[in-house]
Amino acid sequence: MDIANPTDEHSMLREMVRNFVKEKVEPQALAHDREERFNIDLFRELGEMGLIGLTAPVDSGGAGLDATSVVIVNEELSYSDPGFCLAFLAHDQLFVNNLAHSGTEEQKERMLPKVCSGEWVGCLGMSEPDYGTDVLGMQTSAVQNEDGTWCINGRKMWITNGIVDEEGTPADVVWLYARTGTDERGRAELTTFLVEKGMGGYSSGQKIKDKLGMRSSTTAELVFEDCIVPPENVVGEPGESMIHLMRNLEHERVGLAAMSLGIARRCLAEMNAYASDREAFGKQIREFGQIQRHIGESWAEYRAMRAYVYDTARQIDLSEAGHRLDSDGVKLFATTSAKNIADRAIQVLGGYGYVGEYVVERLWRDAKLLEIGGGTLESHQKNITKDLSRDPGVIET
Ligand SMILES: Cc1cc2nc3c(=O)[nH]c(=O)nc-3n(C[C@H](O)[C@H](O)[C@H](O)COP(=O)(O)OP(=O)(O)OC[C@H]3O[C@@H](n4cnc5c(N)ncnc54)[C@H](O)[C@@H]3O)c2cc1C
Repeated sequence: MDIANPTDEHSMLREMVRNFVKEKVEPQALAHDREERFNIDLFRELGEMGLIGLTAPVDSGGAGLDATSVVIVNEELSYSDPGFCLAFLAHDQLFVNNLAHSGTEEQKERMLPKVCSGEWVGCLGMSEPDYGTDVLGMQTSAVQNEDGTWCINGRKMWITNGIVDEEGTPADVVWLYARTGTDERGRAELTTFLVEKGMGGYSSGQKIKDKLGMRSSTTAELVFEDCIVPPENVVGEPGESMIHLMRNLEHERVGLAAMSLGIARRCLAEMNAYASDREAFGKQIREFGQIQRHIGESWAEYRAMRAYVYDTARQIDLSEAGHRLDSDGVKLFATTSAKNIADRAIQVLGGYGYVGEYVVERLWRDAKLLEIGGGTLESHQKNITKDLSRDPGVIET
């Protein structure tokens, strides 16, 4: 069995996305990185292809696909433009997947068609200026009014798709986590709100400029000042969002590992081709042992990433939490491997590797974010160690 294409449908999906990437994504990637611009038209083209609600049900405009399919799409997009893929991931995996799995019937009926077509761009607001890894410390709070509406106050930081254009237009809809209570340990009891553009008190703050990488996705601060949200926009029971937050974080981490895989494959392809084309001292540079080390180690790491990513995707059940050990493990391994492979690719290409036209420097910059976003390397190390202490038997299985 081909672990990366377990069925004919998976192979066909890969081919479709690969063709789209070659024709549409690759030609715009360098310019959008330089200009720090999100290509919303291209994003909507993905919507026309039925690819921005990958795991949402077909009768709501989604594609009804599995985690392996999500990995395939992320890998293929990131082969060319990881920044564009990050914007896609924030919408598809952080907003649409969450809504499709945890939203009420009414919310799904009202919003899924809009987000699956690309008419609406969605995002997820979890991180704050002072709370990232320490997510349960978050200060954005929501208080219920007597008429049943909720009043939200706070700021969210680093939100991918938080704005959708250069005018600072905020995302059409935010999957927002807010504190609606505090437990005996001082940790937030979280509730999820669907905040829609136009709701009073919801606005965009600063656009985060001059990012190292992922520059073709927008990153922004979101502001909630006495933002009034109706009760029908609350997801699940107040105070009980931790479970769907964990479920979606696991899905996100596999998705980010898949992005690393696309980066690694592209960098490997670039360094391998260059090592044949480039000559020094009258030989192809691939004849030199030190270059062989760069290529050989990259191939082995790429193959190990590929196996771990697809094996984890195969086992993940999108409807429930419980895959933390491997969603953390695969992201921990794949993100650093991608960064190292991109680094070796620059080294093999020498001076050419250092400039944008040769692609690998952009991928190296993009790869670094994957060690931070969706959970830092340190948080994965912490979680894995905790999970192995709870269940050491898993090592022997
Ligand atoms: C480009 C970009 C896009 C993003 N998109 C989104 C988005 O769409 N939505 C969203 O909600 N967030 C988003 N984020 C935020 C991202 O998830 C956070 O940056 C990340 O979780 C880390 O939080 P922090 O930046 O506050 O760092 P901190 O949590 O302050 O960490 C700083 C350092 O301390 C370490 N550290 C913290 N706690 C521990 C501990 N217990 N043990 C050991 N080390 C520790 C960290 O690992 C890190 O090295 C994005 C970030 C970026 C840069």
